[in-house]
Amino acid sequence: MRTLVCTEPGHFEYRSKEDPIWAPGHTLLQILRMGVCGTDLHAFEGVQPYFEYPRILGHEIAARILRTEAVGFQQGEEVVFLPYFFCGRCIACRQGRTNCCATLKVCGVHIDGACSDYFLVPDEYLVHGRGLGADELALVEPFSIGAHAVKRAKLKEGQKVMVIGAGPIGLATMEMARMAGAEAAVCDVNNGRLDFCRKILDGNRVMNAGSSDLADRLKEWTGGDMPEVVFDASGNLNAIEAGFQYISYAGTYVLVGLQRGFIRFSHPEFHKRETTLMSSRNANRQDFEQVVDCMVKGFLVPGKYITHRLTFEHAGRDFGGLLDPKAGAIKALISFEI
Ligand SMILES: [Zn+2]
Ligand SMILES: [Zn+2]
Repeated sequence: MRTLVCTEPGHFEYRSKEDPIWAPGHTLLQILRMGVCGTDLHAFEGVQPYFEYPRILGHEIAARILRTEAVGFQQGEEVVFLPYFFCGRCIACRQGRTNCCATLKVCGVHIDGACSDYFLVPDEYLVHGRGLGADELALVEPFSIGAHAVKRAKLKEGQKVMVIGAGPIGLATMEMARMAGAEAAVCDVNNGRLDFCRKILDGNRVMNAGSSDLADRLKEWTGGDMPEVVFDASGNLNAIEAGFQYISYAGTYVLVGLQRGFIRFSHPEFHKRETTLMSSRNANRQDFEQVVDCMVKGFLVPGKYITHRLTFEHAGRDFGGLLDPKAGAIKALISFEI
C-alpha cells in the first residue's frame, strides 16, 4: 500500500509498505478521508512538541471496514475511530478518562497515523458512522475535541461564553457550546478567519482579539458580567494570558489549545474571582458518539467548515500550501478514493 510519510519538517515522501494483515481483535480499514489538523500542519512546520520523524500523519479519519469480528460492526460499514490509544490501567483510565491516559499514544503523533491506503485498528476504538458520509465522518474527531471541552466546563443553558481562536477547534467548541444551550462569542487576530466566522455566525459575536475595546464589547454583550466560561483554542501564549481578563467572577477558563511555555497570570485577579482553571485534552468515546448523533440529527452541519480538498496522490505536494495564511484554510480534507 501507499503511505505518505513526513520524513522531516517541510518534507513528505510517498513510501510503499506491506498491507497490514488482519488479526483477531483488530479491524482492517480502507481509508476514505483524512482531515488535516493543526497538529499535522505544526508537525510539517517542525513546531509540534514531542514530535519525532519520520512519521505518518493522520488522526481525523473516515474509513470503510474491510474485515472485522468486532461485535455490531460489519464489512462495508463506514466508521470513524478514536485515534488516542490508551493503556486501560492507569489512574486516568481507571476513571474512564482514557483521553488523558498517562501513557497515551495518539495516532499520527506518538505512533504512525492513517495517511495510507489501509490501517489496522484495535476493535475497541471503532465508532459507528450511522450512515454519515465520509466528509462528515472525517470531521467527527475535531468536533469531539470541542464536545469534550464543553463537557469539561459543564456548560449550562443560557450561559454566555467566549472562545479565543477561530480555527477548526475554536469553531467546533462554539458549535458544541451552542448545542449545550450556551451563547458563544469568538475572537481571533486573523481577519480572514473573522470574515469566515461572520459568514456563518451572528456578526456581533465575532470580535477582533487585537482591538482595544474587546473587554468593553464583552462587558456590553454580557450585561457587565463578562463570559462565564472562556475557552482558549488558539494555543497562543499571549492570547492565553490575555484570556484571564475576560473571565467573569466565579468563572472558568478551559485551555483546549496547547503551547510549549509557562503561563503567567495575576494571582489576586484570579483569586478574587475564584476562577476555575482547567485543561481539556483530546476526547473520549462519549464525545465521539455525541458528535455523530448531532450530525445524524442534522444539528451539526460540518460541511460548511470544509474549505480545501486534496487528493492522496497530490497531498504531499499540496500540503504546504495550506500553511499560507492567504489560503484561508479552515478545514482541508484529503480524499483517498481512486
Ligand atoms: Zn486533529
Ligand atoms: Zn491509561
